[in-house]
Amino acid sequence: MSLPLVLDAPRRGKPPRHLADLDPAQRRAAAVEAGQPAYRADQLSRHYFGRTTSDPALMTDLPTLSRDRLVATMLPALLEPVRMVECDAGATRKTVWRLHDGSLVESVLMRYPDRVTMCVSSQAGCGMACPFCATGQGGLTRNLSTAEIVDQVVRAGGEVDNVVFMGMGEPLANYAAVSRALRRLTEPAPAGLGIGQRRVTVSTVGLVPAIDRLSEEGLQVTLAISLHAPDDELRDTLVPVNTRWKVAQVLDAAWRYAAVTGRRISIEYALIRDINDQPERAHLLGNLLRGKLVHVNLIPLNPTPGSVWTASAPEAETDFVMILRSYGVATTVRDTRGREIDGACGQLAAASVGEEQG
Ligand code: SAH
Repeated sequence: MSLPLVLDAPRRGKPPRHLADLDPAQRRAAAVEAGQPAYRADQLSRHYFGRTTSDPALMTDLPTLSRDRLVATMLPALLEPVRMVECDAGATRKTVWRLHDGSLVESVLMRYPDRVTMCVSSQAGCGMACPFCATGQGGLTRNLSTAEIVDQVVRAGGEVDNVVFMGMGEPLANYAAVSRALRRLTEPAPAGLGIGQRRVTVSTVGLVPAIDRLSEEGLQVTLAISLHAPDDELRDTLVPVNTRWKVAQVLDAAWRYAAVTGRRISIEYALIRDINDQPERAHLLGNLLRGKLVHVNLIPLNPTPGSVWTASAPEAETDFVMILRSYGVATTVRDTRGREIDGACGQLAAASVGEEQG
């Protein structure tokens, strides 16, 4: 009886190579390799990044006979939508995508009056094991390729102004693919999508060597640190990688990033009732952050299924904000877009896995 299970196990091979994995010179080389003139790569890039289409029928500047083959080699399908959920009267849309090997990832599109933000996944699953996060409970399946990351944005159809790496996965644990994705997202068409560097946010648990590496990329992207606790004793339990890089080391790396890039650091802090929301911790955090180029995003905890933790009481949240502001630290409470569709943090993909298996 166990054999069919083995045969059904998803293949974990490499995703097909896609134009978005390559820089413009590599794309031209790939076109030549496919027996085509190099400029076909530029034509395909204009379709993919400029018009956000991968449909050969729309590529009337390409010869009819080789069009399908060119698209199959350079723009293979990477993401198949398996589920789409909308809320906020259609302003928030979450998509669960199936990858070529059966892995599921999700992205969330959020339309605001003045901007459109896409939240992307950088890994299938996550290895960071934060106990309050739905994705963290299932472990890491694999890294996404550059094109698998970029395609989540392209599939929204060119209306995206902001990209945040706050979906599934730890982006800095998939450094090579993520740093290439940052270039594809920000380079002007036809090299990339032309999204402003300052409109892209990389959110991390605090992998110190990777933060330092990101400082040296010559990019102006926003760095967000998922801090969630000001003291090592508590942070060791909420963000287990803290046992490797302590609060002080993570913040020092963040200040180095701010010094090199001139960018304000975002501090993410999920407020968890009676766990990390005490006034003493607000004071500790205020002391750590006072006078720095920083902004605190307080996130009301989105409880994951089966977890005993819940969001802070409204008064505790207000007190926390007031104490931080008394230190001169810019502080806002994040809106809870998409909560009713398992908005954040891998919950919808987790639910879909459950349904597919159940
Ligand atoms: N691995 C990266 C990015 C993905 S998570 C990181 O940790 O930064 C994006 C943000 O959502 C992180 O700040 C994460 O801690 C937070 N988050 C995860 N689960 C949450 C939950 N249940 N409620 C509120 N925020 C959560």
